[in-house]
Amino acid sequence: MSTKVLRIKEIEKTFITERGAQVNALKDINLSVDKNEFICLLGPSGCGKSTLLRLIAGLEVETKGEIFYQGESLTKGHKDIGMVFQQYSLLPWRTVINNVTLGLEFAGIKKKRRKEIAEQYLTLVGLQNYSNSYPYELSGGMQQRVAIARALASDPQLLLMDEPFGALDAHTRILLQQELLNIWRQNKKTIIFVTHSVDEAVYLADRIVVMTSGPGRIKDIINVSMPRPRERSNPQFGKLTSMLLNMLTEESSNNNDNVINL
Ligand code: ADP
Ligand code: MG
Repeated sequence: MSTKVLRIKEIEKTFITERGAQVNALKDINLSVDKNEFICLLGPSGCGKSTLLRLIAGLEVETKGEIFYQGESLTKGHKDIGMVFQQYSLLPWRTVINNVTLGLEFAGIKKKRRKEIAEQYLTLVGLQNYSNSYPYELSGGMQQRVAIARALASDPQLLLMDEPFGALDAHTRILLQQELLNIWRQNKKTIIFVTHSVDEAVYLADRIVVMTSGPGRIKDIINVSMPRPRERSNPQFGKLTSMLLNMLTEESSNNNDNVINL
């Protein structure tokens, strides 16, 4: 039997900009996520993907609706929920290991234990030899690995990832996608991963939530039943990719009318 860890009910989010315009970022969002599921949120830029993740993380407050985590209403985030941001968001004045221990410090874990945990996750992402380096000494892909290690070190059950590989070159991106799937399988996480890359969504997801823009709604939810590891050369992969690309093209030709100037 599947267990729903997250339920998003009738979520709507409207921003009021500094100039007084009203932006309807999200409307009628209903989604339930199973434990250990890998969900990709796919949609054009500006359709509200980051807003939805930030609502789940408790970094924004919904205008309408409610989000439940393990049956409890989520109002200010939850200790079991971790986030990896689009920018690497490492603290430049801290070494790699001290970036990874950050959440553990907030959680009040003792220094020796923090170091052990951080080393374990740095090994998992292949950066055990860079503990004492500073972020500027690392490539973009390595910095993103540190950000992933930092998020994993707090052992979140639900991991929210906002276009984490968006800024990486194609080769590094594919390697990190494979690593992420390994980590997900070994550590039994539930992941909600935002991307605007169709290829990435088809490679990673159990289910792809396709969003429309202006305001962001769920257009469709696609089950990806292809076994892993998925081969990009598999005709099924190509078929699904082109179907999703058509959906997105259709979407971007629709007018965006989510901004109302008051
Ligand atoms: P995505 O991540 O899909 O690119 P976002 O969630 O960042 O989209 O944004 C969705 C919409 O909400 C956009 O129109 C964006 O301009 C608007 N928006 C996001 N954050 C704010 C904010 N703090 N104030 C005003 N508008 C915002
Ligand atoms: Mg975004």
